[in-house]
Amino acid sequence: MFKRLRRESQPTTRLVINHDRCLSCGACVAVCPPDALFLHDLHLTVNHQTCTRCDRCPAMCPVHALALVPQETPHHENGL
Ligand code: SF4
Ligand code: SF4
Repeated sequence: MFKRLRRESQPTTRLVINHDRCLSCGACVAVCPPDALFLHDLHLTVNHQTCTRCDRCPAMCPVHALALVPQETPHHENGL
């Protein structure tokens, strides 16, 4: 039971930003429900603690600079 709860609480994806592609347009910031994206001096960052992996921002980006990618399997789940 404990392992099941831990597995469900672990995010399986993580948002990555391709800064070479990002135009700093702010479109992704505007659609993020928990306000997890920030533009400071035209540099985009994401708060991974508050990002809910809703997949809205990658769909909004005009240059495909955002993606949700699989997380590495946590060590405590190895062999399960
Ligand atoms: S995936 Fe959703 S919650 Fe996470 S940064 Fe993008 S819009 Fe915000
Ligand atoms: S929508 Fe795309 S180009 Fe615009 S700020 Fe976000 S990541 Fe950068």
